[in-house]
Amino acid sequence: MQSETTETLETTRTAWSRNHPFPATVLENRLLTGPGSEKETRHIEMDLAGSGIEYLPGDSAGILPVNTCDAVDLVLERLQFTGDEPVTDFYGKPLNLREALTSWLMIGKLSGSTLKGWAKHTGNPEISDLALPANKEKLDAYLWGREFLDLLEHCPAKLDNPQQLFKLLPRLAPRLYSVASSQALRPSQIDLAVRVVKYESHGRDRQGVCSTHIGERTPKGGTLPIFIHSNQFFRLPADPGVPVIMVGPGTGVAPFRAFLEHKQAGCGRWPMWLFFGDQRASQDFLYREDLERWQSDGILQRLDTAFSRDQKEKIYVQQRIRENSAQLWDWLERGGYFYVCGDSKRMAPDVEAALLEAVANHSGRGPEYANEFLAEMKKQKRYLRDVY
Ligand SMILES: Cc1cc2nc3c(=O)[nH]c(=O)nc-3n(C[C@H](O)[C@H](O)[C@H](O)COP(=O)(O)OP(=O)(O)OC[C@H]3O[C@@H](n4cnc5c(N)ncnc54)[C@H](O)[C@@H]3O)c2cc1C
Repeated sequence: MQSETTETLETTRTAWSRNHPFPATVLENRLLTGPGSEKETRHIEMDLAGSGIEYLPGDSAGILPVNTCDAVDLVLERLQFTGDEPVTDFYGKPLNLREALTSWLMIGKLSGSTLKGWAKHTGNPEISDLALPANKEKLDAYLWGREFLDLLEHCPAKLDNPQQLFKLLPRLAPRLYSVASSQALRPSQIDLAVRVVKYESHGRDRQGVCSTHIGERTPKGGTLPIFIHSNQFFRLPADPGVPVIMVGPGTGVAPFRAFLEHKQAGCGRWPMWLFFGDQRASQDFLYREDLERWQSDGILQRLDTAFSRDQKEKIYVQQRIRENSAQLWDWLERGGYFYVCGDSKRMAPDVEAALLEAVANHSGRGPEYANEFLAEMKKQKRYLRDVY
């Protein structure tokens, strides 16, 4: 039944896309993290009624952000434009420069191509040096945490024609967010868990363009332009009885909330085991109520958590995997699927190391066999990662 649904949905195409997103009304925008948390993560619910949009657990939603008025004003000021100058977008449609900088051009993150273009335009020796192929590492270090405005301040210059910005700046790209709900349970709704990105760099407070647009500038009743980015490689098993092991710290929990809702809606009877982690249980236990309810209702068979800052030594999900490796091996031997979602840089490799260790130890056949076992799991599409 599950594979039939999957097939039907994947061959269905809706008219909404990156170039033609659906304006979804925000039904809810609330904090998931508690007071005092070092992070701001928000639960977003949107209305899909009338859109014909269909998605499956494992898919992501693409959201098109806009740059803030303040950020646009500062760029206009530096370039000595008013914003009323006429330009045409990437498709030749006329608009004014303010609209272009708001909705079409990436000014919130400095790209290598922008820096190289500016080096050519200004002839500034320091910037030109960074643009040399031999200086790739220096260039990356310069770009990190900088915006277009930083470059304009560091190396001021004017443009003869505002249309040149369409050559200089990349197109403002949509960002992807894992879907955190199941349409089997709530057909005309889509939920996301969005961590609002904020940091300080080069002496200035910075905001992630899309996450702050969603989290802080789109309250209930506002709209967000969305489309579905299908992910056929991150699906629940077609066999509704095989075990599902999910590792989703932080916002990585989002697709697993969708998996659990799908099971709650009666789409399968997969035994489910979730490893969740974050900094502190009192502030960062995302979806705690939902998870505990699913546990007591018998939808979630096991929930293991790791809160890194709740004790002296830091504990992460990979430690919980190690502590429970005998049972994990048992679930894998029963044909279990192993899913990982969230941070790609540190969490995903550490979790893979813990998984390999569990297989090596409990199979009794050592590390070489563990590598073969994992390769076979990948081939069978039972080891699935959606990391970012
Ligand atoms: C398949 C997929 C699924 C995803 N699912 C989710 C999800 O469910 N929830 C979620 O919250 N996110 C998710 N993301 C991440 C999301 O797409 C965005 O990348 C994230 O929200 C940041 O976008 P932004 O526009 O707010 O930030 P941007 O404006 O793109 O800024 C982020 C950039 O800022 C810079 N930066 C960030 N921190 C620092 C720092 N401390 N110092 C210096 N520079 C820094 C880096 O260059 C970084 O790339 C997912 C990504 C993918 C690919």
